[in-house]
Amino acid sequence: MSDRYAVLGHPIGHSRSPQIHRWFAAATGQDLRYDALDAGSDVPSFLRTLVEFRAAGGLGVNVTLPYKLAALQAADGASEGARLAGAANTLKFEDGRIEARNTDGVGLVRDIETNCHVALNGRRVLLLGAGGAARGVLLPLAWAGARCIVVANRTAEKAQALASELVPHAEGTVLDGMGLDGLAGAGVFDVVINATSASLSGAALDISAGVFAADALAYDLVYGQGLTPFLRSARDAGVRHLADGTGMLVEQAADAFAWWRGVRPETATVRARLAVPLE
Ligand code: NAP
Repeated sequence: MSDRYAVLGHPIGHSRSPQIHRWFAAATGQDLRYDALDAGSDVPSFLRTLVEFRAAGGLGVNVTLPYKLAALQAADGASEGARLAGAANTLKFEDGRIEARNTDGVGLVRDIETNCHVALNGRRVLLLGAGGAARGVLLPLAWAGARCIVVANRTAEKAQALASELVPHAEGTVLDGMGLDGLAGAGVFDVVINATSASLSGAALDISAGVFAADALAYDLVYGQGLTPFLRSARDAGVRHLADGTGMLVEQAADAFAWWRGVRPETATVRARLAVPLE
C-alpha cells in the first residue's frame, strides 16, 4: 500500500496541494498517496480528522486555513519557526510523536531568492498585512538578512504589536510597525510584499506609489489571480519585477515533501504548470 499524506482544512476543495504533491511524487519516483480532507468547521472536528488519518496509517499532513494554530497545538514538538509564527502548516508522524514545522516563510524566501533572483541580505523590505501569513513570513525574511522590515497594516495597532513581539528574534534586522497611511514618509523599499487578503476580494491597497525603489520586486502572496490590484498598482508605479504567490506555494510544498520523504523535488516544472500570466 502507498504511503499516505493529506492536506486538512476547511473549505479544502480549492487546494492545489494534492496535485503538487502528486507531481512531486511522480517526478521523484516516490510511492505515495496524497488526499484533500475537509476537516470540518471547528477545532474538535479538525482534531478528529487528524487522529483518524494518523490511526489509518497516515505519515504526515499539510494544514491550511483555518487550522494552522490548532495544528501547532496538536503537535508534541515544533521547529523554532513554527513556534514563533504561532502556526504550523506541516506535520510529520514519527516514532509515536507529531512534529510540526511552518514551511510558508522558507518557501517565500526561497522563491524570492532562488526563483526571482533577488537577494534579501541588506535589503529594505515592506511587508503589507499583519495576519497569519505576515506573521509566518516575517522572521524567515529577517533571518535571510533583510536590513529592515516595515510591517504596515490597515489596522496599525496589529502591525505595531507584531513587530514589537518579534523584534527579540529578528537577529539584527530592524523591525517597525505602522498603519498604511504612515508609509508616505517611510522611504523606498527594495522588496514590497503584499501579505494582506485584499487581492482575494479584488480590493486595491491604499499605499503610496513612492514606496517602490527603482528596481523593486513587488510580490503578492495571492496566487492564480493574474495581475492583482496590488501588482497592477506596482506596475503602474513603474515596477518591472512582479511575482505572485505561486512560487511560494510550490516551494513550501517542496520543503514539506523533502522533510517527509528525504528527497527534494525540483520545482521549476510544477511552478510553470501552475503559473498564471501577470498581465
Ligand atoms: P488573515 O490572517 O485573514 O489577514 C488578513 C490581512 O489582510 C490583515 O492584515 C487585514 O488587515 C488585511 N486586509 C484584508 N482586507 C484588506 C483590505 N481591503 N485593505 C487592506 N488590508 C486588508 O489572512 P492571511 O492568512 O494572513 O492570508 C493573507 C493572504 O496570503 C491570503 O490572500 C492568502 O491566500 C495568502 N497566502 C498565500 C500563501 C502562498 O503559499 N502563496 C500562503 C499563505 C497565505 P486588518 O488587520 O486591518 O483586518
